[in-house]
Amino acid sequence: MAYPSQSLPPVRSSHDVRILFVSAVFLGIQAPPRVSHRCRVRRRRERCMRMSPDLGPVTRKAESAVCDVAIIGAGVAGLSAAQRLVDEGFSVRVFEKSRGLGGRSATRRFRGFGFDHGAQYFTVQSSRFHSVIQPLIEIGDVRRWDPRIVTIRADRSRAPAPESDRYVGVPGMSTLGNSLAVDLTVQRDTRIASLQLERADDWTLVAEDGRKLGRYSGVVVSCPAPQAAWLLGPVVPELAADCSSVSMQPCWAVMAAFDDPLPVEFDAAFFDDDRLAWAARDSSKPGRPPMPDCWTLHAAPEWSARHLDDDDSGVAAALLDRFFDLSGLSMRDASTALAHRWRYARPDQDNPLPRRIDDSTRIVVAGDWTNGPRIEAAFLSGIEAAGDLIGLLGAPSR
Ligand SMILES: Cc1cc2nc3c(=O)[nH]c(=O)nc-3n(C[C@H](O)[C@H](O)[C@H](O)COP(=O)(O)OP(=O)(O)OC[C@H]3O[C@@H](n4cnc5c(N)ncnc54)[C@H](O)[C@@H]3O)c2cc1C
Repeated sequence: MAYPSQSLPPVRSSHDVRILFVSAVFLGIQAPPRVSHRCRVRRRRERCMRMSPDLGPVTRKAESAVCDVAIIGAGVAGLSAAQRLVDEGFSVRVFEKSRGLGGRSATRRFRGFGFDHGAQYFTVQSSRFHSVIQPLIEIGDVRRWDPRIVTIRADRSRAPAPESDRYVGVPGMSTLGNSLAVDLTVQRDTRIASLQLERADDWTLVAEDGRKLGRYSGVVVSCPAPQAAWLLGPVVPELAADCSSVSMQPCWAVMAAFDDPLPVEFDAAFFDDDRLAWAARDSSKPGRPPMPDCWTLHAAPEWSARHLDDDDSGVAAALLDRFFDLSGLSMRDASTALAHRWRYARPDQDNPLPRRIDDSTRIVVAGDWTNGPRIEAAFLSGIEAAGDLIGLLGAPSR
């Protein structure tokens, strides 16, 4: 499941460079000349790569922390909100239930190679997102992907796919989350189970094992809509009701590797079909390690919903079967076939959520479901949520 759209080309003209410069200043990214900025991002990334894997589970320090803002969820939205708040001088702690960062912009590693089993690529339309992506392009964390791409109909006929400038993380889509998390304090493997309003109007976050995780003046909730509604229900019922109004569609993803390259003349395909929606050759993406012919398939939303509780092997067989059929290939065995169930893959609406913030409690929600079902929209939702919260909190307090 990938989303075609118009996008900006990479920075080329001096006018573009000026936009980049202005946007970087606005975002709080210090904007010295371009080369030093690139070096700064590279240094920050190297520091992050050294630090991130070992931040580990909840520490005593986290339990007693007093911070301006807590962010629940280290997907693209939560991380962009955190970056903006930190750039404006606020103290911020991010909590993520998984081991990895980036949420649905994810890479499943397997025997030394990887599948982008969530978001396939992203597009860049706004100057704000552009100002963050361009430095990542310059240091090689993001590269342009130009697949041979087609649309395949249920009768196997083919049509051109929509034109788009497509970008991917290198060596996988999860790099995006790792890059956005540079210099942030992220507590991984920590699922937030509830919020409690305690002393002096501060929020306390409680982990699922009952531990209290510090006190915060404001909270950004950036998990998918149903999970946000569940967390907020007991404390901010009106905002929780707004979150409940957004439903999210599931998506089954199948990852398959073949020892011999499949004899197809495309690297990615949209399928106009009620079972299969998308297929992409991971090995055609730039900057991947040497790997066999690896493919990620995404099921159509309604099919995924109907088969949500099926077992992995049945789903893998059903999607591979359809893929071979619609591609005009004879069946062949995959050396690896894995399936992943995205329970909350995509919001079923493109419209922004009318209300994102509860002023009296200083809780704001962010995520693609508040702004549009794409990585860039998730990023912008985090920036806007941080702006809303800054408007309420004023200056950093501690
Ligand atoms: C199969 C698939 C294909 C897609 N294809 C594309 C594409 O090609 N192009 C594109 O632009 N977009 C695509 N998308 C959409 C894109 O991935 C999302 O729009 C974007 O990643 C959403 O970011 P987010 O931060 O809003 O949410 P998420 O990425 O879902 O981040 C939310 C985070 O919150 C964490 N969390 C949840 N509950 C808790 C809790 N209680 N405590 C702590 N942490 C919690 C989660 O673990 C997660 O890391 C695709 C998505 C899927 C699933």
